[in-house]
Parts: sequence; structure tokens; C-alpha cells
Amino acid sequence: MKTRVPLNDLPAQHRELKGEILARWETILDTGAFVGGEAVETFERDFAEACGAGHCVAVSSGTDALRFILRALGLGEGDEVITVANTFIATAAAITQAGGRAVFVDVEPGTMTLDPARLKAAVTSRTRGILPVQIFGQTADMDAINSFAEKRGLWVVEDACQAHLADYRGRTAGALGTAGAFSFYPAKNLGACGEAGAVTTSDDGLAETIRMFRHQGQSKKNVHEVRGTNGRCDALQAAALSVKLARLPQWNRRRQEIARRYRRQLEGLDGVELPVEGEGRTHVYHQFVIRLQRRDDVAQALHRAGVATAVHYPVPLHRQPPFRHLAPPEGSLAVTERYAGEILSLPVYAEMTDDQVDLVCRELKRATAEVAAG
Ligand SMILES: *Cc1c(COP(=O)(O)O)cnc(C)c1O
Repeated sequence: MKTRVPLNDLPAQHRELKGEILARWETILDTGAFVGGEAVETFERDFAEACGAGHCVAVSSGTDALRFILRALGLGEGDEVITVANTFIATAAAITQAGGRAVFVDVEPGTMTLDPARLKAAVTSRTRGILPVQIFGQTADMDAINSFAEKRGLWVVEDACQAHLADYRGRTAGALGTAGAFSFYPAKNLGACGEAGAVTTSDDGLAETIRMFRHQGQSKKNVHEVRGTNGRCDALQAAALSVKLARLPQWNRRRQEIARRYRRQLEGLDGVELPVEGEGRTHVYHQFVIRLQRRDDVAQALHRAGVATAVHYPVPLHRQPPFRHLAPPEGSLAVTERYAGEILSLPVYAEMTDDQVDLVCRELKRATAEVAAG
């Protein structure tokens, strides 16, 4: 059967915005200001303000954002960063690429975010910081993480790549630690028309260093203060991002509405656990992740019914070849490992219609019953 509900619908998102984006792109084509300039500065100012951060430095991807932050914080050979294994590979890859070593801890049951209770046992004399992932659209328990970090003299870097404008006790993701990394990969809640990312921070020195890193380490023309690279965000992406940023609050509200509609219909469905929202956290539903037994069979049945689903992520990072050597003792990531076999991401995107949500719910009920009976 053809897909009746896709995982996201970027063409639908752009049908509405096309005129506005193309008008801005036309100005850039006419002036030739492709790199840096007003479009980038405008987006940086507006995104910093939206996050409540002192600075936004637009870069070429979320991976670069993470990597630049870690390098700017002086991460060195053998330094350890505590993070989670139920995340996109870039989280741990950035630690490795910055010269550090990822130390994986387990997540809280329910929210699937870094469990602050696991920090104490993971700290060593080499620990430099904590990198919680604001996974699926909600932040970790940041008060607990920050107060632990403060006592130990550690920094806290948010991987906020899935949590644009998620709220934690009245403050916004990206402004809850020393710095935050964002991805604007097209399918994120705020997505570019290509690749882009950003760093948010209220640390002036950190922002300055990262501005140099993305621009060949340059402080002014022909003066290269530090070892940098080309990690800039281009003007076409920044202009498109500005158009979309204006819609982001309304898009996030629609995602939340869809989540409520899912909950109303799926509450109490036998064998299905719905996403758990942590206290004081406002979830922006980058993904709507349920948990269930015989996940792969149910996903297959949904696929046959024309409903797209995904698994974020089927293999925790300590089971991936580049990070296997960093696997902690067997059993210490029990929640992460159990969830990897149970999680299923249902479609959620701002353009999704109520009828599509209802269709997913009907097909999920049918699929779980069918799998249970078979
Ligand atoms: C998307 C994502 C990244 C990487 O972003 P890119 O822009 O693809 O480099 C990092 N961490 C998480 C949790 C992500 O979801």
C-alpha cells in the first residue's frame, strides 16, 4: 500500500513558505552575499533571543556545533564527557573528534533522558563535563544535572538538536547549561533547506572562540589566532531559517496538539506505553515515541497499512563499532538497552492532519491486536 501517513512532510511545509523564502533568496542572488552578512546576523540575533541566550553562532551542522563547543571548552586527549547512549551517533562522535572520551550513563525510566542519579558513579578525575541530550523534544532534569556539575566544577553542554524551544521550568533549551548545540537538519522542528546548525551560549569568550573556529580560526582578516576550519552557515540557509523561526512556536504547538490527540486515543491501549513528560518540562515532540512489545512486528503491520514509523535508535551507541570499546560494564545501561528493543516513533509533524492522527491510532490498535493474536 502507498504511504498514507509519512514520517514527516517537508514538501507540505514548504508549499506554504515557498514565496517568502524565494523572495529572500532572490535578494541574496542579486547581491551575491552568500556567506555571512545580514541574513546570518539577523537569524543569529533572533534565534539567540528565542532561546534566551546571550549569543547564537550559526554553523554548518549540529555536529559542528557540538564539536566546536567541546574544543572551545578545551577538551583534550583522554578527557571524559558523561553522556547517554540512546542518541544520534553525532553526540558521541563529536566528543571523540574533539579529542575526548564518551562515558555512557543510563537514562531515567520514562523520559529516556540522562539519569542524574547515575552521575556520581561515572565521575573520575578525568571528567570535564556532562553532555545531556534533550532527546525527542524534552530536556533532561537540568536542575539536578547543573547542581551536580556545579559542585564538581564540571561544565554542562546541551545537545539540543531535537529540542528547539523546549522549556524547562520557564527557561529554554540551549540556555540551560554552559552552551547548547542545535541542528537544523531539514526534518528537525526547525530545519534548513539543507545543512545548518548553531551554538547558543551566554559566555562571551566561548562565543568569540567558536566564531573563530567556524571561520578558519580568524580573528580579523589574515590573522588566524587558533586552529579553525570552514564551519560556517551560509546566507541562503540563514534566510530560510528566519522565515521558519517565525512559525516555530506555532508549529511546536501543533506538535503538542497532535501528541494530546494521540494520548486521548491510545491511553490504556494494552501493552503500549505512551511518552512520559518530566516534571517542569515542556515537550516539543520532535518525536512521539511509544514503547511496546514485539515492536518490529507491529512496525511491519503499520508499514503494510501505509503508516510510516521509525526507531530512534535501534542500536545504542556503546553497541556501535566506533564506540564499542567505551561500553560500560554489562548491565549498567539496562534501561537504555531494554528501551532500544521497545521504542517506536509515530509520525508527528506540524502539517499532519487530525484525520492522519486518527488513522495512525486506528491502525496501531489493529496492528497490536493482530500481533498479539498471531
Ligand atoms: C540531528 C542530531 C545531531 C546532529 O546534527 P547534524 O546537523 O545532522 O550534524 C546531533 N545530536 C542529535 C541528538 C541529533 O538529533
